[in-house]
Amino acid sequence: MFGYLEGFSENEEILYCSHCASPISIRYNDGTVLCEKCGLHFGMIEIAAASLVESIMSDEEGDVFE
Ligand SMILES: [Zn+2]
Repeated sequence: MFGYLEGFSENEEILYCSHCASPISIRYNDGTVLCEKCGLHFGMIEIAAASLVESIMSDEEGDVFE
């Protein structure tokens, strides 16, 4: 299973590797991080709650969803 995600990655909030759980020490300017232990290079995108997305969408679309 896979999915395509688009968004902003904030690497100051990534404290541990999502694969091996080691503390993250290398942070890149593009919002991604590198795990020194297992070599995983990744970023993290937070997914907004459905209700928040709905309110953003309705703002952009001029209350189409009401
Ligand atoms: Zn790791």
